[in-house]
Amino acid sequence: MGVRRLRAPAITVVNVSAPVAEYFDVLIVGAGLSGVGAAAHLQNECPTKTFAIVEARAASGGTWDLFRYPGIRSDSDMYTMAYAFKPWTNEQSFGDGDSIRNYIRDTARDRGIDDKIRYHSRVRRAAWSSAEARWTVEIERADTGITEYLACRFLFGNTGYYRYDAGYTPEFAGRDSFGGRIVHPQHWPEDLDCTDKKVVVIGSGATAVTLVPALADQVGHVTMVQRSPSYIASLPNTDPIGAVLRRRLSAKNAGRALRIKNMLFAWLIFQVSRHAPQFMKGLLLKGVAAQLPDDYDIGTHFTPRYLPWDQRLCFAPEGDLFTAIREGKASVVTGQIDSFVPSGLRLQSGEVLEADVIVTATGLTMQMLGGMALEVDGRPIDVGRAVTYKSLMLCGVPNLAFIFGYTNSSWTLKSDLADRYVCRLLNYMDAHGYAACTPVEPDPALPTAPYLDLTAGYVQRAAGLFPLQGAEAPWRVRHNYPVDYLMYRYGHVDDGVAFSRRVPDRAVSPSVAV
Ligand SMILES: Cc1cc2nc3c(=O)[nH]c(=O)nc-3n(C[C@H](O)[C@H](O)[C@H](O)COP(=O)(O)OP(=O)(O)OC[C@H]3O[C@@H](n4cnc5c(N)ncnc54)[C@H](O)[C@@H]3O)c2cc1C
Repeated sequence: MGVRRLRAPAITVVNVSAPVAEYFDVLIVGAGLSGVGAAAHLQNECPTKTFAIVEARAASGGTWDLFRYPGIRSDSDMYTMAYAFKPWTNEQSFGDGDSIRNYIRDTARDRGIDDKIRYHSRVRRAAWSSAEARWTVEIERADTGITEYLACRFLFGNTGYYRYDAGYTPEFAGRDSFGGRIVHPQHWPEDLDCTDKKVVVIGSGATAVTLVPALADQVGHVTMVQRSPSYIASLPNTDPIGAVLRRRLSAKNAGRALRIKNMLFAWLIFQVSRHAPQFMKGLLLKGVAAQLPDDYDIGTHFTPRYLPWDQRLCFAPEGDLFTAIREGKASVVTGQIDSFVPSGLRLQSGEVLEADVIVTATGLTMQMLGGMALEVDGRPIDVGRAVTYKSLMLCGVPNLAFIFGYTNSSWTLKSDLADRYVCRLLNYMDAHGYAACTPVEPDPALPTAPYLDLTAGYVQRAAGLFPLQGAEAPWRVRHNYPVDYLMYRYGHVDDGVAFSRRVPDRAVSPSVAV
């Protein structure tokens, strides 16, 4: 398949001549883990740059403020999920929702990033003008209902990868007939009390694997219903090497050392999964078998149809899911759902699972760049047809970067590297008097591929929303920390990019208040 050219979708254009309230060198969109990290890097590495963060919600923290279901926690270790510049100092490897949210907010408060965040500000559209070498960004204010316009030289999307307003729920026949409550983990009701209730959780991904043992302690019984199983690995919540390191080093240095160790460990597991998948499969299934009774049907309930890391691996800290199953507080049912019925749900096998509460842990609705519409010199950009450059910019789109973290290890390992790269690029442009940088398209004779190479349903559903990747560097997406480390930290910043010089002052609109 050749490179698909950008094709214009039908969108409303930004009013580029609207009065602009303020101008910034960099406008960061999103005040989650990535946006706060990006701001910290900018402060450190580009101290003269003016910037602001626009955030759609009324609070910072992103994912770690939105998700409030019981047991919400990281499923990667926090030593690698923490920022490189602020090591994780807790003894627990997995962070709960509160501690991750506090970690992000502490970072923002301690560095004065808080003052730069403009809440209730959703970016709807952004338009690049080559004549003025700037973006005009249209923002809808949820608090005042007013549409305002900001301008910036560089637009930096830190918007995560899914919609906040609606999680993904497949169509279930008979849904309205169910007499109990249906809940999506993305919008967990504060008033929901599951004590002594029969709860059925639909799903087999990280959220279901987290929720089931957390609920099992409160409720009568939890049943996890899955169409097909995922790989689940048990890991200790307190790293034994961490305990040794903490006796010899400061908490911060121990955190730094554990970050390197765990990054290498995750990298190794991924490489072995890719190069010796049957070996890894055997290892993972052995780990499951060791935690369940001898007569447990692991073949049906814990043996996926795919190979390790064709989809994300799930982690159970201290094997909590298996403990709940062993103790009879939780059970797993594998089969197709036929329909919801008044008392619960019916499987295609005819079995009816009684429930007071049904939790649809069925996934996220993916979204790129926070749903922003983009245009370049009046030409609408279809992000799903654009080819990504170094996995953080788009070919043909000037002065724009986005953060998409690793899917095969901690998100932040990549976002930290990508932030450093963006700062290097901005400093390079300053040093050479460049106003704009536009990644160029790869050779159209070479094939392109989807941005993400996972087979999970949520990734497949997103095909067409995320950009494409090219066949070779710098257009290829690697998902490989050591390779990315070299590219982002030490690689050329001028390969595959067209730079243009600073625009004359008279070309800049008088409405721009610098
Ligand atoms: C339940 C769950 C568990 C996860 N666990 C892990 C884990 O263990 N390890 C891991 O590495 N990753 C995990 N992830 C991935 C996770 O998304 C990242 O860890 C991290 O939170 C991403 O941070 P972010 O700031 O890029 O995105 P988000 O946390 O999604 O934050 C994006 C922010 O941008 C704002 N925004 C979006 N669009 C706009 C717009 N148009 N205008 C203005 N603001 C906008 C949002 O309101 C939000 O505040 C998990 C994800 C989920 C959903």
